[in-house]
Amino acid sequence: MNRPTPHHPTATVHGYPRQGPDRELKRAVEDFWSGRRTAAELLDTAAGLRRSVFQQLAGAGLGEIPGNHFSLYDHVLDTAWMLGAVPPRHLAAGRDLQPGTPAHTLAVYFAMARGTGHVEPLEMTKWFDTNYHYLVPELGPGTVFRAQPGKPLTEFAEAKLLGLTTRPVLLGPITFLLLAKPVPDAPSDFQPLTLLGRLLPVYAELLGDLQAVGAEWVQFDEPALVRDQPPAVLNATARAYRYLASAARRPKLLVASYFDALGEALPVLANSPVEGLALDFTGPAAANLPGLAALGGIQDKRLVAGVIDGRNIWAADLDQALATLVTLLPLADRLDVAPSCSLLHVPLDAARERELDPQVLRWLAFARQKLDETVTLARALTEGRDAVAPQLAANRAARASRAASALTHDPAVSARCAAVTPTDSRRATPYPERAAAQQARLHLPPLPTTTIGSFPQTDALRAARAGLRTGRIDDAAYRERIEAEIREVVAFQEKAGLDVLVHGEPERGDMVQYFAERLTGYLATRHGWVQSYGTRYVRPPILAGDVSRPAPMTVAEYRYAQNLTDRPVKGMLTGPVTMLAWSFVRDDQPLADTARQVALALRDEVHDLEAAGAAVIQVDEPALRETLPLRRAAHPDYLAWATEAFRLTTSGVRADTQIHTHMCYAEFGDILPAIDDVDADVISLEAARSRMAVTTELAAAHYPRAVGPGVYDIHAPRVPAVAEFTELLRSAIDRLPAERLWVNPDCGLKTRRWDEVRPALERLTVAAREIRAVL
Ligand code: GLN
Ligand code: ZN
Repeated sequence: MNRPTPHHPTATVHGYPRQGPDRELKRAVEDFWSGRRTAAELLDTAAGLRRSVFQQLAGAGLGEIPGNHFSLYDHVLDTAWMLGAVPPRHLAAGRDLQPGTPAHTLAVYFAMARGTGHVEPLEMTKWFDTNYHYLVPELGPGTVFRAQPGKPLTEFAEAKLLGLTTRPVLLGPITFLLLAKPVPDAPSDFQPLTLLGRLLPVYAELLGDLQAVGAEWVQFDEPALVRDQPPAVLNATARAYRYLASAARRPKLLVASYFDALGEALPVLANSPVEGLALDFTGPAAANLPGLAALGGIQDKRLVAGVIDGRNIWAADLDQALATLVTLLPLADRLDVAPSCSLLHVPLDAARERELDPQVLRWLAFARQKLDETVTLARALTEGRDAVAPQLAANRAARASRAASALTHDPAVSARCAAVTPTDSRRATPYPERAAAQQARLHLPPLPTTTIGSFPQTDALRAARAGLRTGRIDDAAYRERIEAEIREVVAFQEKAGLDVLVHGEPERGDMVQYFAERLTGYLATRHGWVQSYGTRYVRPPILAGDVSRPAPMTVAEYRYAQNLTDRPVKGMLTGPVTMLAWSFVRDDQPLADTARQVALALRDEVHDLEAAGAAVIQVDEPALRETLPLRRAAHPDYLAWATEAFRLTTSGVRADTQIHTHMCYAEFGDILPAIDDVDADVISLEAARSRMAVTTELAAAHYPRAVGPGVYDIHAPRVPAVAEFTELLRSAIDRLPAERLWVNPDCGLKTRRWDEVRPALERLTVAAREIRAVL
């Protein structure tokens, strides 16, 4: 292969999936946890996986290969480790082991990730608006940073042995500090960003180490800068990169951002003395192009242009990407081509999906295919379009076939969407009248008790589902297993004295996948695993075409459960926004259009449940908040279509049919108006951990409808005492009118065990009765 000269555009990536072709990493790590593999064996497997990724990236023709993008668990955790920011409580996990040994290192590292019997792990939260979760570093006024360059240096050396000079990727200092949270005992006004002065010398030391082993470039990822940031953060950014650029010994610096446009941070970085910027030019981040042009470009810098969407699974429009690149050419000293962000967020290789129609397969680009797309674009720039004419032609043909396919477009669906009128997404009766009609139908006591939907997913249930998949049991046997589970769940709820029952969702392995498998327009993959966190991987379904519902999806289970009891059973659905958020979405129409299609399909289900007798129907939207765009300017548009989709799903019911929704988080800030706007009769929310803080917020906002603030924290194995429930309920009643309060857990019970759930729900109903008695 002819290596392009350094000044010609080359192809590169920000990172690659870590899992291995068959999730070898998951198995190796979990084996280590359970004692089936030693530390040395785990590290050996990891090194082997890294080697094969380096070879794959080089073999695909990338001109520059990133380093240090591998992780045994999470790259933010690795960064905390690299900077010596290890909380003292986790250090204790290595107490009985020899310091410096792999066993010691891994014991402390995984204690940070997962906790131990004695200490809590670091908190975990979403990585920007992706479905990847990182561990939140804990920093305090007393944090002492110390460079631990082992990982980036080892990985640099490993690639060097293969003849590759990699560009180590480090999480940048500003994003690291902004993602961190204060240690538990920090003063209430402590902000991790104030540690910048202490942190920068440690980063400078790392740069010196990397320079010493021969690194030519180092990449600092600063995705936090694509959010709206106050002047203090922008000033800190300018200061940080001025400082790092002035380091005596250092490689060249590339500052990378992705997931949205840099906005006001763009001139800050453009004016900083670093040698290169990596920018995203896909989706909303396309605003980086006019932003860059307005500055007259970055003539003194290298630009790594992210023109291939690193977060979706569709074959890119290479002609359009090429046009963007050509526009960018005069705007920088040197231009390189890349996907918009690390390929961590897409599955490994579409070629593995042999069960998909080969026609459809050509529409898809997973990580492996995105490498080829990136290389093709770089070659088109260096060698001319003719050199890659066959690749461009194949890409055009694949996109044309997708656009013309009956799988993509269903005229009946577009006609139905076009016919939607504003009244379709408004309930005909205002809330106070609905509430009265619902009470006349349901006769619920004050503080009615209910659950969020799922009950423990037992081993027997999982075995039955696996058995059905492999053909070990037939449909009838599976059905019998599900019905037995529903009988048990209903009988328990009656005995415990719950007021509104659920069927327990035993038939659902996953709340999105279950519906995706039953709606047209969705594709499922076999090997399309994506890291969610640590060793947990998910296989998001693909929203590929127009969505419709060929047949009822949940009515049989609802009916079966309702026939077992005189108490109302809730119909239970996943909402349209969540159906999009936990899937790969279409790139050929606005999200709002896709949401509307899903909403109409779910609306049919709502009507069938209502016709089957459901007086209460719950539509879960746990993802409504997490899909919020990173930039505030984009919030109103998103919230408008998201809430409209929810209302379109639920607004066609009678006044006396009660619509519930559930969202599993306690921090609202930005979306309180949206919560009001979905116009659900009852909303259940997470609240136990924050000691009902959400009720204060809702009261302050004069929230007018019924609320079930969670009183049972289902994330912990702990079973609260009756008194803890009554105390939480009392504080809720102090803030919100009792006649609009419900009593329920924080979220579904599917991850808990029966021996926790039984006493917890029994105590919850006892507590509700105690409080009712004194109302
Ligand atoms: N109904 C779902 C359940 O109980 C809701 C899950 C969720 O909010 N993530 O499992
Ligand atoms: Zn939840």
